[in-house]
Amino acid sequence: MDTTVLIEQSVIDSILSYARMLHPREAILLLKGKVDKNRIMVNDTQIPPLATHGNTFSTFPLHMLPIDFSIVGVAHSHPSGALRPSVTDLNKFYGQIMVITAYPYRSEKNLAIFDREGKPLKYEVI
Ligand SMILES: [Zn+2]
Repeated sequence: MDTTVLIEQSVIDSILSYARMLHPREAILLLKGKVDKNRIMVNDTQIPPLATHGNTFSTFPLHMLPIDFSIVGVAHSHPSGALRPSVTDLNKFYGQIMVITAYPYRSEKNLAIFDREGKPLKYEVI
């Protein structure tokens, strides 16, 4: 069965504006919400507790995050403008979904959600 992702508009706005703020550095945000069978709801973001300037998603120690079942995935930015996960991204997959936003982080068109295999997931903004 297909996974449905429901994401709040405020979450999209936070990801885009955080990415714009940190550009040209890479922004990382934890996605909070809940998973209910094949439905994933995202309703909040959180700056990772271990975030330091200069960390990129590929160098960020995800294994050091506290165990928190409200984290459904991680969002990060691609200052290069590529709107797809890299091999490293897929190797570092954390949670159920991965959100990538690509430069210029202007709208939903610059944002995509992927599953563990790197397949784009359809999502609905609520
Ligand atoms: Zn990446």
